Amino acid sequence: MNMLWVAPVMPDYDSARATFSWRRERSRLAGLPGGGVNIGYEAVDRHLRDGHGDRPALRCIARDGSLRTVSYARLAEDSSRVAHVLETLGVGRGERVFTLLGRRYELYATVLGTLRAGRVVCPLFTAFGPEPVALRMELGNARAVVTTRELYERKVAPVRSRLPHLRHVLLIDPGDDPPSDTLSFPALTAAASDTYTVGQTDPADLALLHFTSGTTGTPKGAMHVHEAVLAHHVTAAYALDLHEGDVFWCTADPGWVTGMSYGIIAPLTHGVTTVVDEGDFAPGRWYDILADQHVTVWYTAPTALRMLMRAAPRDGSLPAERHDLSSLRFVASVGEPLNPEAVHWGREALGLPVHDTWWQTETGAIMIANFAADPVRPGSMGRPMPGVEAAVLACGEDGRVAVVGGHVRVVGEPDVQGELALRAGWPSMFRGYLHEPQRYESCFADGWYLTGDLVSRDADGWFWFVGRADDVIKSAGHLIGPFEVESALMEHPAVAEAGVIGRPDPLAGAIVKAFVLLRPEYPPSAELRRDLIAFARRRLGPAVAPREVGFVDTLPHTRSGKVMRRLLRARELGLPEGDVSTLEAPEPAGTAGAPGPSGK
Ligand code: ATP
Ligand code: MG
Repeated sequence: MNMLWVAPVMPDYDSARATFSWRRERSRLAGLPGGGVNIGYEAVDRHLRDGHGDRPALRCIARDGSLRTVSYARLAEDSSRVAHVLETLGVGRGERVFTLLGRRYELYATVLGTLRAGRVVCPLFTAFGPEPVALRMELGNARAVVTTRELYERKVAPVRSRLPHLRHVLLIDPGDDPPSDTLSFPALTAAASDTYTVGQTDPADLALLHFTSGTTGTPKGAMHVHEAVLAHHVTAAYALDLHEGDVFWCTADPGWVTGMSYGIIAPLTHGVTTVVDEGDFAPGRWYDILADQHVTVWYTAPTALRMLMRAAPRDGSLPAERHDLSSLRFVASVGEPLNPEAVHWGREALGLPVHDTWWQTETGAIMIANFAADPVRPGSMGRPMPGVEAAVLACGEDGRVAVVGGHVRVVGEPDVQGELALRAGWPSMFRGYLHEPQRYESCFADGWYLTGDLVSRDADGWFWFVGRADDVIKSAGHLIGPFEVESALMEHPAVAEAGVIGRPDPLAGAIVKAFVLLRPEYPPSAELRRDLIAFARRRLGPAVAPREVGFVDTLPHTRSGKVMRRLLRARELGLPEGDVSTLEAPEPAGTAGAPGPSGK
């Protein structure tokens, strides 16, 4: 070992914030030779320019376990081919190319080729049925889609007549006798040139269209521009501790914004090696990947962590004892509040605390995080990124921000709940909701972007998640955040996961009801139910603790791994379920391959 090697030291939080400016950070980007910024150029071309084309960009693990390593030079060639194919087909600059692909190499080549060519990428979850696929392609005016033959036949062909603007369907595995009106991705790309010069791209040109997770209602199409790459790059350094030489694994589904910002773009801009796992979630496989690939930085989601916790072997042995996790240096989580229990579990089981990060499809990149240089505060989202101004805004009776005469009130006192707001203007901020200008407008007040999440901030400036404005329970004069109740229940040894809602009650307004998924070794019983309620009352007090506990075999999750409390509530009250296009397909509890966390 080279004794002179010194671990990279992250600047401490206060000095990083004090000296930070987005304008200065721009020098971290390569920029296009003729001026302008292009995400694809930052992810691919710059490494060739710097003579690093032979570095490993991707390590793809196929379902059969076979490995394929792809260099930055190869990625440049294959994405160049895609860029030429799009041009030859007549897909115009700014037009949308949809992907309906799992995590596989062709996805990377397509996304990067599309971005380098100045066309707009819109990724879809492969688990969508034909209706959600049709709805999003219709809304997004899909010009082309890249997918597999099987997914095409099951999900696109049945709705194709409703998509007159969809001119090109490219199948990555057309096989013999391909369906009519489809094109062969391998044939077209093989015939195309493997060099492509990225054209002039304005930092404000549209690059990505992302539909939100649909946790609170119908998914919205958030539009992002090329200069977002600055935020992807910078946040990966500060919040994910990404450095040259790292092996990075982001487990998010490529149909979700995390799978794009941190599954594809950010690590490539840093020139690190990204693990691309085509397989499904299974605890043993995941630990094998961490160990065998020598993953150094791991970005995952609370559901995934809860499922790993739930799958702990009965003999009490820890993953770090059974697998060599010595390469792992940094673990972070996103998508849902991270229960303190999961942070503690990380310390014990992985030998590292889990760092929570908070952001949204709309913010495009991490906004609030437990930083590498700071000790983790279990249960806290962390502190705002350098360059990000976050505040708690005072809310009215209805739980939404009170806007008086165009102004809002920033809560100065610590530990007071209000809506989380961000000062508009960071580079990856969304530039609109597709076809919904008014909805976009209504997200802003007095120069702040309103996130729809309720939080509080402690005296040291750390933010604590309370709940989504829609999920907060008003019970007998108390405002109760489901997260707090769920986290308390998770501390009980029998509880693997919990979802908490308010059930209308004539006296209290609402009472707290918890739906609990038990660990496999604890059978449901009336006694356990009483014990859970008593346990929660001791921790939370009677006003906040659940009055009712129901045992469930599964909790409804979105494809991006979030508990869909609105669905629990609708089912409990016998109401219509609303838009469930992003609902994860339920699987029986206890199956090895259980529901896809964070997207599989
Ligand atoms: P929709 O907007 O369609 O209802 P969604 O808000 O779940 O769906 P995303 O943009 O994928 O869509 O998720 C962002 C939301 O996820 C945040 O607003 C927040 O509620 C939740 N979230 C993400 N990360 C965290 C975190 N670390 N702690 C708490 N909540 C989080
Ligand atoms: Mg949202």
